[in-house]
Amino acid sequence: MATHHQPLGGNQMPRFAGPATMMRLPQFASAAGLDACFVGVPLDIGTSLRAGARFGPRDIRQNSVLIRPYLMATRARPFDSLQVADIGDVAINTFNLEKSIPIIERAYDEILGHGCVPLTMGGDHTIVLPILRAMYRKHGPVGLVHVDAHADVNDEMFGERIAHGTPFRRAVEEGLLDCKRAVQIGLRATGYGPDDFDWTRRQGMRVVQAEECWHRSLVPLMTEVRAQLGKGPVYMSFDIDGLDPAFAPGTGTPEIGGLTTIQGMEIIRGCTGLDLVGCDLVEVSPPYDPFGTTSLLAANLLYEMLCALPGVKRGVG
Ligand code: MN
Ligand code: MN
Repeated sequence: MATHHQPLGGNQMPRFAGPATMMRLPQFASAAGLDACFVGVPLDIGTSLRAGARFGPRDIRQNSVLIRPYLMATRARPFDSLQVADIGDVAINTFNLEKSIPIIERAYDEILGHGCVPLTMGGDHTIVLPILRAMYRKHGPVGLVHVDAHADVNDEMFGERIAHGTPFRRAVEEGLLDCKRAVQIGLRATGYGPDDFDWTRRQGMRVVQAEECWHRSLVPLMTEVRAQLGKGPVYMSFDIDGLDPAFAPGTGTPEIGGLTTIQGMEIIRGCTGLDLVGCDLVEVSPPYDPFGTTSLLAANLLYEMLCALPGVKRGVG
């Protein structure tokens, strides 16, 4: 146990002090020797409305200081099970989206080359495309659990093929996803046409619109999702706008009628047992989050993702 990195405890250093890493974990220069890492991608030049997600990684870290090592509900002990650290941020080119894409790809090729599972702090949702390209090179087509208010399968936005509303269209076209093992949860709101979500369905993916989730526990849904996704690598991409703006106001394209915090936790905990090979939490925009509400939520959801990873021990012994 002593060989695993632990978050700095609140009895060692006050929680409002000390290093500003995710969960006050050690900071590493690379993913070498790690089983899982927290990594930031501070890119928001793919957004279409309210920018600011470039500040997401820093603010999520800032709001992670209270998270303690054990998850009481599931008895998960991630830091007794896995070697975890914060490897800092990917040095994107904030003046150029196209040039940032290969920078992100190379960073994730390197992380995956170390056999490390990345837990990504976004950044806008554009970043999932270069991440999925790296995932494909390592694992082949991956299954997908995608939480979002939006399908993000636009063919283009303002004439651009790469933006935060297009990544899953490109991912499907490039064969990065195993569409029979993919689900989108929380889609809702207004669109450009009545069949906006049907393109995804035609690719073989399951779409669970937000209305199907209203007033319900998502535990039964996740039983079905685990059966659908089965064995094989799965990537989880969690756009914070999948949750209702009452819970997550600090985001770029908020939509009413969204999932609750509890439903978000049920989705992540319901992924336990899947072969998760990477997770992200994107679209947190701190300038629209004056009280840190959204970043606090995001930090805890990222911790929940860590607890859902393969190899995490539960209970004592
Ligand atoms: Mn969204
Ligand atoms: Mn999205």
